[in-house]
Amino acid sequence: MGNRVTARPCRIAGCPELAERVGRCPAHAAELDRHQRRTTPTKVTRTSAEQRRRARVVAQHRRVHGDWCPGFEVEAHQSSDLTADHVVSVADAGHGRGPLAVLCRSCNSRKNARSQHSTDDVDNDLDEVTS
Ligand SMILES: [Zn+2]
Ligand SMILES: [Zn+2]
Repeated sequence: MGNRVTARPCRIAGCPELAERVGRCPAHAAELDRHQRRTTPTKVTRTSAEQRRRARVVAQHRRVHGDWCPGFEVEAHQSSDLTADHVVSVADAGHGRGPLAVLCRSCNSRKNARSQHSTDDVDNDLDEVTS
């Protein structure tokens, strides 16, 4: 008893199929995937055009500076693991066409972690100023 998973109906109203995952039948689950692919901004950065653009920015940086990371909250340092990322993160700006900055992979992830938190800080600061 209790081991058998009871099949539940698809959560889309009027759909006669049984749910397979995310509470939806296979067809409706696939539809949800397509919808998320369209609406998630970070997916923009996965297009090959965007990847080529980033590779170009990194190559250009290398020609000028060599294997050198400008550093984010750390001193500039040597690194061959360079990546190009958006100055304004795609999550904030909502599109993937903004200017790119070159950082090493670890500085880049530090910057991303920071920009996710900083949105809250900015809001708090504004509250203090206006009240
Ligand atoms: Zn369905
Ligand atoms: Zn770095």
